[in-house]
Amino acid sequence: MTEAPKPAPYTTNNAGIPVESDEHSLTVGPDGPVLLQDHYLIEKMAQFNRERVPERVVHAKGSGAYGFFEVTNDVSQFTKADLFQPGRRTEMLARFSTVAGEQGSPDTWRDPRGFALKFYTEHGNYDLVGNNTPVFFVRDSQKFQDFIRSQKRHPRTGLRNNDMQWDFWTLSPETAHQVTWLMGDRGIPKTYRHMNGYSSHTYMWVNGGGERFWVKYHMKTDQGIDFLTQEEADELAGTDADKHRRDLYESIESGDAPSWTMHVQIMPFEDAADYRFNPFDLTKVWPHGDYPLIEVGRMTLDRNPEDYFVHIEQAAFEPSNMVPGIGPSPDKMLLGRLFSYPDTHRYRIGPNYAQLPPNRPHSPVASYAKDGPMRYEPARVGAVYAPNSYGGPAADTERFGEVAGWASAGEMVREAYALHREDDDWGQAGTMVREVLDDAARDRLVSNISGHLKAGVSRPVLDRAIQYWRNVDKDLGDRVAANVNGG
Ligand code: NDP
Repeated sequence: MTEAPKPAPYTTNNAGIPVESDEHSLTVGPDGPVLLQDHYLIEKMAQFNRERVPERVVHAKGSGAYGFFEVTNDVSQFTKADLFQPGRRTEMLARFSTVAGEQGSPDTWRDPRGFALKFYTEHGNYDLVGNNTPVFFVRDSQKFQDFIRSQKRHPRTGLRNNDMQWDFWTLSPETAHQVTWLMGDRGIPKTYRHMNGYSSHTYMWVNGGGERFWVKYHMKTDQGIDFLTQEEADELAGTDADKHRRDLYESIESGDAPSWTMHVQIMPFEDAADYRFNPFDLTKVWPHGDYPLIEVGRMTLDRNPEDYFVHIEQAAFEPSNMVPGIGPSPDKMLLGRLFSYPDTHRYRIGPNYAQLPPNRPHSPVASYAKDGPMRYEPARVGAVYAPNSYGGPAADTERFGEVAGWASAGEMVREAYALHREDDDWGQAGTMVREVLDDAARDRLVSNISGHLKAGVSRPVLDRAIQYWRNVDKDLGDRVAANVNGG
């Protein structure tokens, strides 16, 4: 980061000119009209009116910090990405967030959490824009906008509306795995420090020999997983709505830097075709027994941003920022996000958002982009077009020309993924309920689901919701039905 100049010992306007007063506008006599030539007053009012940029439609409320990532295990056989080579230490930025709530909403509402990481690598920024869950509600970006609208506010009342949420979920059975997760303990983490992060998507890794692998990332919290009960979270929503933001800031400020250990699951490229689950379906995990976790390194967050708005509100993460050695997979949600994220940044914070402090690569930039609103980095590449005879950069196709892709052929279609032998919408959710949760966690799951359904969900959506849970697990559905119908 560039060293900021020291502030003047007196108030200036934005042009650095000393101001005449902090308190009084310029008037004709003490009771007279305010004068138009009070340019400082006008600047103050105009600046104030423009203080906000549009909040993110999703993940509006977030908290973040800077830190570093250190490689602890040799995974160079799977990827040539420079940040994952043995011994490497890379500066980074993390932003955690809720999803559906607005800027001022409580940190402890039940919601998945965003887990967005930006690594300032030797070959530009690598962004891993994940969540605190390994799966998601939908598997096709065609349904994302519908899903989010069902979770946010009703157009007529301006209120969150559980009926809308369950209507969408029960008409979209692929949501069952993620909704089971959301209604369970991990739906409200104790703090941002006490949750895991997951890439959720499958990505591609390419090694130095050009060999390809499919990969999923798991960032395991070194603070230990912990959660809030619904009652604790409800209470905190009223007494300390910024609980998670405060916790992250204060723990870093006090020198207690949180850390996460990065692991990956690696699937050989050829396994994808007949793996028992479609490995690109975002509503599914790869069971650990099939593809065990391999340690990669550790990320530590040890530096609070100097200014929240500059560094966190303007932080722009985009899954399309992939560095050599890393590529996308056929995950349809991921492929949609590759377009959607940079598009939202251009709208929200302008086309030159990559020049803002949190987004500026730490490696040299030699792009032919020029001009546009709020651009302040001069084009230093010697020419503004390619090819040119004036020393402008040329793509190094020898080193970086290889496309991290896969073979594909066939007619254009609008179809669901090809089903693999164990693919269905309920199976993995049921496994979690029966094999991962203990009795106490299952009781809380029943109670959380029932409480949510009793808060404004009407028939026929309610009947569908009971059937939805019976499909996940018969006993779970029966217990929800007894709670909802009996009380
Ligand atoms: P494992 O027994 O190997 O893994 C189960 C995993 O569940 C744990 O490692 C833990 O993930 C996670 N978990 C523990 N408690 C909870 C909870 N209360 N809510 C949500 N997740 C929890 O089994 P499998 O890999 O065969 O997966 C079985 C089921 O576990 C899956 O169907 C899925 O629902 C769930 N799961 C699987 C994950 C995976 O990537 N394989 C990851 C997370 C959940 P962690 O170690 O990441 O904290």
